[in-house]
Amino acid sequence: MRQLRLVQEANARRIRLAGRELVNLSSNDYLGLSHHAELIEAAGQALADHGLSACSSRLISGHTRAHAELEQELADFFAAERALAFNCGYVLNFGVISCLMRDGDVIFSDQLNHASIVDGCRLSRARVEIYPHRDMAALESLLKQRGYRRRLIVTESLFSMDGDSAALAALAELARRYDAWLMLDEAHTLGVTGPEGKGLAHQLGVFDSVQIFMGTFGKALGCFGAFLVGKRELIDYLINSCRPLIYSTALPPILAVAARKALKLVSKADDLRQRLNRNARFLRQGLATLGFNTLAGDSHIIPVIIGPSDLTSEAARLIIDYGAYAPAIRPPTVPAGTGRLRCSLTASHTEEDLEQVLNAFREMGRKLRLI
Ligand SMILES: *Cc1c(COP(=O)(O)O)cnc(C)c1O
Repeated sequence: MRQLRLVQEANARRIRLAGRELVNLSSNDYLGLSHHAELIEAAGQALADHGLSACSSRLISGHTRAHAELEQELADFFAAERALAFNCGYVLNFGVISCLMRDGDVIFSDQLNHASIVDGCRLSRARVEIYPHRDMAALESLLKQRGYRRRLIVTESLFSMDGDSAALAALAELARRYDAWLMLDEAHTLGVTGPEGKGLAHQLGVFDSVQIFMGTFGKALGCFGAFLVGKRELIDYLINSCRPLIYSTALPPILAVAARKALKLVSKADDLRQRLNRNARFLRQGLATLGFNTLAGDSHIIPVIIGPSDLTSEAARLIIDYGAYAPAIRPPTVPAGTGRLRCSLTASHTEEDLEQVLNAFREMGRKLRLI
């Protein structure tokens, strides 16, 4: 029985729950931008200019100057032909995959892909081949099947529950060899990874092999919303066929303005990215020294494997007593027996915060005889 938890106050670093102030390890505000003064000022000005809502879908009269400017900025930033903003990443993945793929097509999807990708695959009515997490040999043998009209490989860049990355160079090569489209979800790497925070595909030099590239504004950009970049024909097709874009009220213009500003900030945030990486290395090392299993990744998302569901809930409760909030992630979100506390680090955490976190994990681990 899951329940909503009332958050009294939160930023990238701290959270107030049930009257207690804790180190926040639950936020995707990786660069601490959600409270950035320039973003808030830009959004405030946009609120005065545009009001709260476009009050219409993009196709009717909801496509404002704010949307057009954001999309141009995104296309320029990624050196892509065009960009298209969406209300959020869930709707984008769900809407785009189900719109592009249909009966007679086949989708190859990593076992750990996000729920929004899973749901898009289901709704598409294409055949869906789930390949074991990051297993390129298994994917290749699935790709050898004949008889489908179109093929799509879809993956996250950084997997949000395990904190490890897709083998993107190998995926790009397989997509090329087997004539498949490649769709990439950079929700957890946009702003964080690669030159100017452009993501993993840019870092690895394979951006041009990605036909459908998506990112979200609700994580490292500190805003809300999502976007896709790609070829002109792709964007035109989506504008004509993608149901959530056609039949839902447009992204509020204030969010388009804020996201555009956030993109500017992110492109110049090398110092924040360095701080985030330093924090991630420090905490991973500290947790490993204590004897915890944090899986194989090296990112700012650090899963601390606890085990059975009940024990994971108990660990999450205890760690709050010791001053940190790291949410319990349990089955069915992750496989049985791999319940975990998921730590999201941000550039805003200080060394003192991280010492407090390590201390909390040490106390919890000893009490539950995990270490
Ligand atoms: C958060 C997330 C989404 C959904 O994005 P929202 O804008 O929050 O709806 C999609 N894909 C992945 C991998 C995510 O982590």
